[in-house]
Amino acid sequence: MNLTGLQFLDKMEVADKSVFLRADFNVPLENGVISDDFRIRKALPSIAHILEKGGKLIIGSHLGRPKGKRVSAFSMDPVGARLAELLGCEVILPHELMDPSLGTLVDEMKSGQVMLLENLRFHPGETKGDPEFARHLAGLADCYVNDAFGAVHRGHASVYQMVEYFDRQNKAGGFLVRDEVLALNQLVDQPASPFVAVMGGAKVSDKLGILTTLVDEVDAIVIGGAMAYTFLRAQGIEVGASLVESEQLETARKIVERARVRKTELCLPTDHVVARRFDASSPDETAIVETIDVGWQGLDIGPATRERYRTVIESAKTVFWNGPMGVFENPLFCEGTNAVATFVAQGDGHSVVGGGDSAAAIRSAGMEEAIDHVSTGGGASLEFVQGKPLPGIEALRPNHPFESFLSSRS
Ligand code: AMP
Repeated sequence: MNLTGLQFLDKMEVADKSVFLRADFNVPLENGVISDDFRIRKALPSIAHILEKGGKLIIGSHLGRPKGKRVSAFSMDPVGARLAELLGCEVILPHELMDPSLGTLVDEMKSGQVMLLENLRFHPGETKGDPEFARHLAGLADCYVNDAFGAVHRGHASVYQMVEYFDRQNKAGGFLVRDEVLALNQLVDQPASPFVAVMGGAKVSDKLGILTTLVDEVDAIVIGGAMAYTFLRAQGIEVGASLVESEQLETARKIVERARVRKTELCLPTDHVVARRFDASSPDETAIVETIDVGWQGLDIGPATRERYRTVIESAKTVFWNGPMGVFENPLFCEGTNAVATFVAQGDGHSVVGGGDSAAAIRSAGMEEAIDHVSTGGGASLEFVQGKPLPGIEALRPNHPFESFLSSRS
């Protein structure tokens, strides 16, 4: 990505100004309790900087998919409480997004104070990119900072449309966005070879774009997860009841053919951990097989596949991993994903991990420190690596053409 003209937070004057920080606090919640506060902690450097420099901080984020309505399970209250703990200061939590009194509350704030707005997706205008909602949010602040890397690929009101109201001096990328952009640029601009992409997860259709790009860019693509079964079936291999996206078989064939022409190594599983049920609960219900029989589904890569993947991943000089190797939420099918987490961490190459599931696997294996960059954005990192312009970043450029950009993108 070309960084020309992009301003980051360290260059922006924030003293005595009200600063709108678009953060990505879309944290996992279990019964109202935050099970992983990784995304909140990642925004702390930008938050601390703005407060130290004497800004008044107004943070906006989405949480879950409340679909434009107030849904109490998706309130920002637990996030505000955790943020207050991490910062050691009060976090003001107004519950109304549109109430005119919000402006008065902001006016009454002093430098160094923090407000966390209610879930931006409680308003239907957020995901629709509604100009009125964008104008309302922009009216709360003197400057705008985007630190929500996980949302920069969205043309949403708080990510894109509201930025139009800030001139070039008063809009910037936060430190998290800066670090993400620099780390992901290393994958795009002359990555050291061999470059290995490890792709997993369930939906081939979500990842076709990236696979089509990567097959021309990398030395090897290692495939696991349910995605592998569409590729195996496309080559006429029996996969039993494993998840297959039939409408993607032709595209999978084209990717296999492209890999052959480009001499990109395409690694697919040769053995599998199978069960009759996705939610099997005992090892007696599982088996390790090379051929999947009718009625059985492949739910993890098998031990021989893991060993082969180890050799490919550990010899890489650049590794990009996105997506689990199996149904890793079930302890019976998590070993392939955990093994890949270890291989990526142990290799000497430059390693970048994107996507919530892979990042969680890296953290639960305690290997975050061994990875060069764990991205906070699954979808955003995939679009970045494909070279797609990201609305939340393009909006920060001086003279960005707000009128025409989104229509030209679709
Ligand atoms: P994605 O959102 O496409 O990255 O997919 C992540 C999901 O893929 C996880 O919830 C996994 O449980 C699921 N998954 C991975 N491997 C398989 C598999 N072999 N069969 C079914 N689901 C899988």
